[in-house]
Amino acid sequence: MPNSEETYEVYALRYASRQGEKAREFYGFHRYGEPSGPCPLDYFFWLARNEHRTILIDCGYSKDRAREKGRYTQNSPNHDALEPLSYLSVRPDDVDHVVLSHMHQDHVGNVNRFPNATFSMAREEFDFWTGPYGARELPATSVDSDEVGLVKDLLREGRLHFVDGSETLFPGIRATRLGGHTPGQMMTEVMEADRPFWFFCDLEATYRAYQLFRDLNARPDTSVVPGHDPAVMRKFKPVHPDWAVDLTSPL
Ligand SMILES: [Zn+2]
Repeated sequence: MPNSEETYEVYALRYASRQGEKAREFYGFHRYGEPSGPCPLDYFFWLARNEHRTILIDCGYSKDRAREKGRYTQNSPNHDALEPLSYLSVRPDDVDHVVLSHMHQDHVGNVNRFPNATFSMAREEFDFWTGPYGARELPATSVDSDEVGLVKDLLREGRLHFVDGSETLFPGIRATRLGGHTPGQMMTEVMEADRPFWFFCDLEATYRAYQLFRDLNARPDTSVVPGHDPAVMRKFKPVHPDWAVDLTSPL
């Protein structure tokens, strides 16, 4: 029987990389009085599985939609974003649940490819992107309206669960809404220098989330895994040389 002591294998799966520039990636970077420089970004989703279930946290972006709409010209993966799953012998059909950290297109692009899965998202996140301001020019640069439609389809099909605040979704799997980067983000990009990424909707919540990650990271046996930090690939044991690391084995 599942119980609260359940443990999981946990992996970070990298599906793309991009060479960014600090001045473009960090909000108000010129105010720090430092020269700009390279800012490499990796794109991940994550797998947690045990004998009871297979869970993804996010599901990458859609290569086809990105190409169709001329997006991600700099970092288009040369493979399907879901390909790293195959290194762990997971097929999309095997996935039982997908936790959607937020609605940006690099996190929800393949929501329609898991026929047997249910999904979770913070209620505030869904409400924002389907509400009156989600389609405004600035926030809309990072979401795909077709994908918002796919998430709405999941709700209609009874496959989308809303997280209010913080919730244990399964034994050993907890989702917590932090806000900041997007209204209902449940995980975030976190930088060691405490500098907000250029895209946020609530600066105070962003700093609060960074402090929470710092506090969590100080706990024994806890690793905070940022969403776009290339250092993740160097700090954990590789499962595949380029595309997957075992998050239960820090180096
Ligand atoms: Zn994002």
